[in-house]
Amino acid sequence: MMPILILKPEVFTWTQVHPYTETTAGLQPASTEAILGHKIGHVATGVGDEGQGRMNNVNQNENPIRRELGEPERTAY
Ligand SMILES: [Zn+2]
Repeated sequence: MMPILILKPEVFTWTQVHPYTETTAGLQPASTEAILGHKIGHVATGVGDEGQGRMNNVNQNENPIRRELGEPERTAY
């Protein structure tokens, strides 16, 4: 069974899954840190995958963590 992190019943992630994601450096597997930044962002701020291009949570929570870690920013949901 694959490890799963459940933050809320509707907010969870499989910790060994790293989906390919569009970034400023092309298509790359998402890091665990970026995934957790995204998921924790939903829970901590209540922001959904909404807004233009469904990028509100990516722009408000995931990309700041990517920048802090020196990772390329996500460009699409
Ligand atoms: Zn999301």
